[in-house]
Amino acid sequence: MLTDSAARSIRYLRLSLTNTCAMRCLYCRGNFEIPSRGQEKLSIETIEQLVRHLVQNHGLRKVRLTGGEPTNHKDFLQYIRRLSAIDGLEELAMTTNGLNLALLADRLAEAGLNRVNISLDSLDKERFAIITGVDGLSKIIAGIDAAIQAKLMPVKLNTVALRNQNDDELQDLVRFAAERNLIIRFIELMPMGPLADQWSERYISTDEMFARLDPIIVNDYPEPRKSAASHYHQLTLDDGKKVTVGVISAMSHPFCDQCDRIRITTDGRLYPCLMDDKQQKMLPALQPTFDADRFDALLKAGLRNKAPEHPAVGSEMMVEIGG
Ligand code: SAM
Repeated sequence: MLTDSAARSIRYLRLSLTNTCAMRCLYCRGNFEIPSRGQEKLSIETIEQLVRHLVQNHGLRKVRLTGGEPTNHKDFLQYIRRLSAIDGLEELAMTTNGLNLALLADRLAEAGLNRVNISLDSLDKERFAIITGVDGLSKIIAGIDAAIQAKLMPVKLNTVALRNQNDDELQDLVRFAAERNLIIRFIELMPMGPLADQWSERYISTDEMFARLDPIIVNDYPEPRKSAASHYHQLTLDDGKKVTVGVISAMSHPFCDQCDRIRITTDGRLYPCLMDDKQQKMLPALQPTFDADRFDALLKAGLRNKAPEHPAVGSEMMVEIGG
């Protein structure tokens, strides 16, 4: 079992396949150009070996492919095939902007992906284009429906709530999720990336989000179901529909004491904490071939740097780290 300096067990790896993304979400990268760090340095074989090593020797249970946009990687289906075949890996998931999902959902499921999280910040076409930089709402909705058809379940929607941007849409987004029997998760804006300077004006706490949802909630099952990062509320709405709403309250109710995850970027850097720039270069253990002993030594050094609590402000953009 892998533990860090605060005795937290590490069971979850978020693997960034690329730092490129067609979207320019206001809070994620906005107009920043992504500097090329000579990325995508790791071969599929190396990634497969490192995941198998973590599963078989260190108790890793879950891998999420992220980025950037993971479906931008030319070999992403190969990654899914190879990783999903690893014995002992209980869950292989992906976070996606959904732009390619209508075409890909069946192939993702066939390749062995268990489930997807899809970013959706607005149901209004123009507003969606302003937030993401892409006029793509209808593609995303087709992608969500394709993911449901392909049984990439449970399909979860991720919504970052932004004051004066989409905060009047939270009820509509919850109704959209209820109609399709999806889980929707509201994410608190984190002070990193292009909106970091405006964070206090744009941030909405999950308590305020729930206050906005309150008029349409008839019943909230008393005990939210908890995972490391999310609290899930089982709601009954005023039209009788039932829906699960998750909240990720990284700023108002930090869950660092429950954090069970590490991140590895496509150019071989380990981030023990999403908001902390303390990173560990793993490349010497990954090239020219995977070296398990060296990997373990570097991993141990990296985990010593996993802070008990995340810093107040993040220094990098999530698209670079694998949010
Ligand atoms: N391309 C994929 C996507 O669009 O979902 C995966 C990468 S994206 C960086 C992963 C998640 O990071 C998204 O759900 C997005 O909402 C979240 N994210 C990015 N910047 C954020 C910020 N400053 N605060 C909160 N969430 C953020």
